[in-house]
Amino acid sequence: MITRLPIIFICLSALSFLPSHAGIRAGAAEQEITPATGLEIQHYFRKSIGIRDPLFARCLYLEDGAGNAVAVVGLDLIMASFETCDQLRAEIRKKCGVTHTLLNFSHTHASAALGPRGRSTVSNDQGSRWNDQTLDAIIAVVTEARKESEPVTLRAGRAGVQVGFNRRLVNANNGHVFMGVNRKGPAVPWVNVLVADSTRTGKPLAVLFEHAAHPVIVPHTSKLTSADFPGAAGKRIREVLGKEVITVFGQGCGGNINGFPLRSTHQKAEEAGHRLGDATLKAIESSERIKATGFTIRSATVTLPSAPLPNRELLAEMMDLEKKNTGRMKQLLQIEKLLERGEKPPGRRFDAHAVMFGREWCLTTMPHEMFCQYELWIDKHAPFRRTMTFAFTNGYEGYIAVDEALALGARGGYEAGRLPNWGGQVYTRHLGPPAIGAEKIVKETLSSLWPSDPEKPE
Ligand SMILES: [Zn+2]
Repeated sequence: MITRLPIIFICLSALSFLPSHAGIRAGAAEQEITPATGLEIQHYFRKSIGIRDPLFARCLYLEDGAGNAVAVVGLDLIMASFETCDQLRAEIRKKCGVTHTLLNFSHTHASAALGPRGRSTVSNDQGSRWNDQTLDAIIAVVTEARKESEPVTLRAGRAGVQVGFNRRLVNANNGHVFMGVNRKGPAVPWVNVLVADSTRTGKPLAVLFEHAAHPVIVPHTSKLTSADFPGAAGKRIREVLGKEVITVFGQGCGGNINGFPLRSTHQKAEEAGHRLGDATLKAIESSERIKATGFTIRSATVTLPSAPLPNRELLAEMMDLEKKNTGRMKQLLQIEKLLERGEKPPGRRFDAHAVMFGREWCLTTMPHEMFCQYELWIDKHAPFRRTMTFAFTNGYEGYIAVDEALALGARGGYEAGRLPNWGGQVYTRHLGPPAIGAEKIVKETLSSLWPSDPEKPE
């Protein structure tokens, strides 16, 4: 008896750590967040005169028996800053008790950006009301998804589909990158899917699906709010699986991919969404059960340094050239200030998260507009049987190109160009794109999240 006592003690202490349930639980919820007619939508900025199709906040909540929990939130919105996402995630932590929230922005260009509470990105009363109501709606969907969670089995799958093309083309005469349709350039030619099937009913309760492409098929001249192709894809999936199924879309690494045909019609956006929806249904049909009964979540934060500032000679030249251009002069004066102080431009925050089900499945998330090569790289190198990858998650500070594009310097185009050319990134507080070497930092950060033992994927 005495010899057996320690064993009993061990058993009891193990029991006290036993989960309240075994296996995975999941819940899902959605709320409409469409701004009222009259609110300014972007990008480009225009006042909406109506609604073509509604915008939603949707959540898939996952929890295992060991107490790991994650809320995956899909938003039909263009973007939000780190400040907004930090604040909202903290509020969700406090009010819903969910430590890990992944806020993915579909990046639809016929929607609005989300701001911190009380500080809408649209500066009028209507805008502030919409902003705070949207924050509340997101908290509500996480709360509801968690409350409704029930035992599930998970399936993961993939099917081939491409609703867009690489958008970077090189001008043969001067080597400068310009925006167009590069059918031969890298793209992510598939949709990834995760299905949560209710153990109780045997039917799917939620479909999480991811594809990488800018939702820019809706023309920027349309003044109708729209979720673009991701909204239409969700609609198609529900037509087949039933409207009680919650479809959560995650935008992948679509930084250098444009939906096709670019800025054409609402009709074309719906057709592309229909195709993506059909491909998702195909991926669901051939999906495989995830056997792991638990998951782990790992996160890492690093800074991606910004490209070096131009030298004083070039700056002087540019100031002379641009003296009548207020917007450009503002950036040049910033550069002058930093040079005088001997300072570097600020870097970009890079937060990566990985939700890992053994070696079977991994959801990787990153902020920003990541180039598609990152998603392809993860899929090739991550030690998991299946991957799903989000960019545009939990924060935003522009484009993260790969080193090959950053090395083009001034010829790097809208997403990666630097002075003396006025690429999009020169207008940010970083005064240019990330520095060459960003790619290595991103890849090292992502690999640091993965299991390091050499075991092969299941
Ligand atoms: Zn974009």
